[in-house]
Amino acid sequence: MSDAPWKIALSDLDYGREEEEAALAVLRSKWLTMGAVTKRFEEEFAQEIGVKHAIAVTNGTDALMLSYLALGIGPGDEIIQPAVNFVAAANMTVHIVARPVFADICSLNEPTIDPAEIEKAMTDRTRAVAVMHYGGVACRMDRIAEICKTRGIALIEDACHGVGGSGFGRKMGAWGDAAAFSFFSNKNLAVGEGGMVTTDRDDLAEKLRGLRSHGMTTLTWDRHRGHASTYDVARNGLNCRIDELRSALGREQLKKLGRNNDRRRALAREYHRLLNATSLASQGWVFPQLGIDSNDSVHHLMVAVAPDTETRAAAMARLKEAGIQTSIHYPFIPDFTAFRETVNADARERLQKSKAFCARELTLPLHPLMTAQDAATVVKTLSS
Ligand SMILES: *Cc1c(COP(=O)(O)O)cnc(C)c1O
Repeated sequence: MSDAPWKIALSDLDYGREEEEAALAVLRSKWLTMGAVTKRFEEEFAQEIGVKHAIAVTNGTDALMLSYLALGIGPGDEIIQPAVNFVAAANMTVHIVARPVFADICSLNEPTIDPAEIEKAMTDRTRAVAVMHYGGVACRMDRIAEICKTRGIALIEDACHGVGGSGFGRKMGAWGDAAAFSFFSNKNLAVGEGGMVTTDRDDLAEKLRGLRSHGMTTLTWDRHRGHASTYDVARNGLNCRIDELRSALGREQLKKLGRNNDRRRALAREYHRLLNATSLASQGWVFPQLGIDSNDSVHHLMVAVAPDTETRAAAMARLKEAGIQTSIHYPFIPDFTAFRETVNADARERLQKSKAFCARELTLPLHPLMTAQDAATVVKTLSS
């Protein structure tokens, strides 16, 4: 990222001496695989989210996969989820031989899953709702949690955009039976590749820990310390273990999370102030607030919605010419080749807002190392 050709990059890492020293300490300890550092990271992360359990894993995709498996979702089951999402939640649904059922978003201004659409998508095969806190702002969790409770189905949060944020009086990641976080390089808490599952349920935590490590009843770490000499395999698990280097980086990043999320919020507010002073809105541009009027959102993305796809492409090209990196969050999942069979014409018909959002969304640079001047340069280029 730092040596990329961009004048203003889409995202950047707040890394310094702290991360370097934490990594060195792990290397010098010569214990690289999951152990004491990971345990500390999990404890600190659980405390940050306000949940009983945090289980560190290889990445956010595995965090989702393990959540589905621990909840016992499987062949023939349906998971209701947004179509405006990174493809991981839908891909993992297909991998457990369940079916993704996409529900539409609230509006272009509020691109999170609509509780009323969740209710319409319910069938007798629905086993779970997997929401995604788009851009770092909470979905309508009060209503969604109530729907899941009433219907007796599981609630999963894809909280990959929402680390450290909250909504409706609770942290994102503390609403669901299970929640998945990603620590990929461009996320608000970044270690390269890494993830976490959070849960308040003791039964799920036990299953998740087992599934993470081959279903084995003891860890290499326990055996190394002489606490155990053999093991049973209680269930058919996977290997989704994080390592100590990543956990050490995660602990340092967690210390910086509050400050960096505040910085993102301040920059998002500056962006909106500047954008509102242009004529872009009168030309059909929409700038979703994503919780800018409260301190709950963690502003993972700075989102603009162009009047149409052609205007978006022209804006991207112009910004690129000026050395400003942009992206699209996300292409419409039902249009991916791998999902053509999964989503029939009827189901697509019910996703008009999602389709429009995906066709017009443009993500502008936003990260804690950016300056207000950078935001001004982006807005000036976009509006010229
Ligand atoms: C990043 C991300 C994921 C996947 O996380 P990885 O760590 O890259 O596997 C899943 N869902 C959302 C919304 C994400 O942003």
